[in-house]
Amino acid sequence: MRANNLVQLDREHLIHPVVSWAGHEARGATILESAKGVFLKDTEGRELIDGFSGLWCVNVGYGHESIVEAAAEQMRRLPYATGYFHYSSEPAIRLAAKLAELSPGDLNHVYFTLGGSDAVDSAVRFIRYYFNVTGRPQKKHMIALQRGYHGSSTIGSGLTALPVFHDGFDAPTPIQHHIPSPYPYRNPAGSDDASVIAASVAALTAKVEELGPDNVAAFFAEPVQGSGGVIVPPTGWLKAMGEACRALGILFVADEVITGFGRTGPMFGCEHDGVVPDLMTVAKGLTAGYAPMGAVLMSEAIYRAIADHAPAGKPIGHGFTYSAHPVSAAVGLEVMRLYTEGGILANGQRAGARFAAKLKALEAHPLVGEVRVRGLLAGVELVTDKAKRTKPAPELKLSEHLARAGTARGLIFRAFADDIVGFAPPLVCTEAEIDLLVARFEAVLDDVLAIADIARAA
Ligand code: PMP
Repeated sequence: MRANNLVQLDREHLIHPVVSWAGHEARGATILESAKGVFLKDTEGRELIDGFSGLWCVNVGYGHESIVEAAAEQMRRLPYATGYFHYSSEPAIRLAAKLAELSPGDLNHVYFTLGGSDAVDSAVRFIRYYFNVTGRPQKKHMIALQRGYHGSSTIGSGLTALPVFHDGFDAPTPIQHHIPSPYPYRNPAGSDDASVIAASVAALTAKVEELGPDNVAAFFAEPVQGSGGVIVPPTGWLKAMGEACRALGILFVADEVITGFGRTGPMFGCEHDGVVPDLMTVAKGLTAGYAPMGAVLMSEAIYRAIADHAPAGKPIGHGFTYSAHPVSAAVGLEVMRLYTEGGILANGQRAGARFAAKLKALEAHPLVGEVRVRGLLAGVELVTDKAKRTKPAPELKLSEHLARAGTARGLIFRAFADDIVGFAPPLVCTEAEIDLLVARFEAVLDDVLAIADIARAA
C-alpha cells in the first residue's frame, strides 16, 4: 500500500532523467529502499545484486559507516563553507591536495563541481578563457568521439555524441565535432591494434586540418567510452591521441568521470597508457555516490597561464554556490582512504581479473557477439547472428526483455538501447559475488533467448 502510494506520487511529481516521460508514467517506478555491500533492496522486497554500482559510481559498495561518520561529523562542525571571497574549508583543501597527489603528472590544480556534467562544462569554460587570455581567441572548435558521453549540460551534451541527447535539444552546436570511435567490432578501421590507433590519429588530424589548426581548442575523450556501449580502445590508443593533440597544438582532455578511481584497475584510466592529459574531469567514484561532487584537474601550465594572463585583480567569473562543498569533500577524503589504505583499489583489481575471465566465457553464448572488459567495466554486445554480427531487430525489443529478466533474476545491469549490456560492479565484490553476478547474467541471457523468437527474427 505504502509502495503503491509512492509509485503514484512519483508518477505525479518526479521527473526522471533520460526516460520517456509518458513511458515512465505507464510503467511506474521501481523504488529502491536500502542497500548493503553489493546488494540493493526494493520496496517489493526483492534483493538485487548491483552489477552497475548505481550509475557507475558506488565503487566502494553500500553501507560504509566510516563514510557516514565523516559526513555527519562535517555536518555537525561546518555543514557549508563558500569558496567565494577567498574562504576555504579543511576537507576541500585536503581533498584537492589528495587528488593532485593521486593523479598522473602535474595535474596539480583542482576545481570542484557538483558532478560530471558541470565538470565538463567547467573544463570548456576554462579552455575558452585560457585561449582568450593567452591571445588565441579564434581557437573555439572542440572535437570528441562518436558514441562519446560527456554529460548533459547545454554545452557538454553537444560533445556527447548519442542521438537522444541531441534530438530536440538543438545540439551539437556548430563548433562541436565528432570523429569515429576506436571500435573494431563495428567500425571498419581494421581489427589489429596498430591500424585502429592509426585510423583514430588520421581522423583527428584530418578534422583539425579541415577546421584549421588555429581554430581548434581541444579534443575530449573517455579512456573507455562508457555510455556509448563500453567501447575499450587498444592499449596505446590514448597515448597516441595525446601525442597527436600536442603535435596539432590542441589541448587533450581526458573525461575520467567513469574510468576514474579504480573502475578500470588503476586509479585513473590514463595510467594504462602512461599518458598525462592537459585537463581531466572526474566525478562518480570521487565520492562513490555517497554525496554529489565532481572536479576538473588542470595541469601546472594551463593553471599558470590563466593565473598570470587574466586581467590583474579581475575575478575569473566561474563559480557555483556548492563548489568544494565541505560535506562532499569530507566524504571524498574518506572514500580516497578506503581506495588506498582500505585496500579497495587492490580488491577491485583482483575482482576485475576474475570478472573478465568469467564474462569472456559468455562469448560462447548464442546471443553474445563480443565481450569487452577493462577492469570492472564491461560491455556485452548482443547479436542474433554471430558470424554476420547482426544487431537484434528492434521488433524483438531485446533491451526490454533483458531489463525484465534482470529484475526477475535479481540482477542490475544497464541494457543500452542498441542491445549492448553494460556492467560496472562495485570494487568490493568478492569472488563469490562476481561468480553470482555472471551466473545470474547467463540465466538472463537464456531467458531472453527463450522469450524472443531469435531464429525467426534473424
Ligand atoms: N562524463 C562521462 C564520461 C560520464 O560518464 C558522465 C555520466 N555518466 C558524465 C560526464 C556526466 O556526469 P553527471 O551525470 O555526474 O553529470
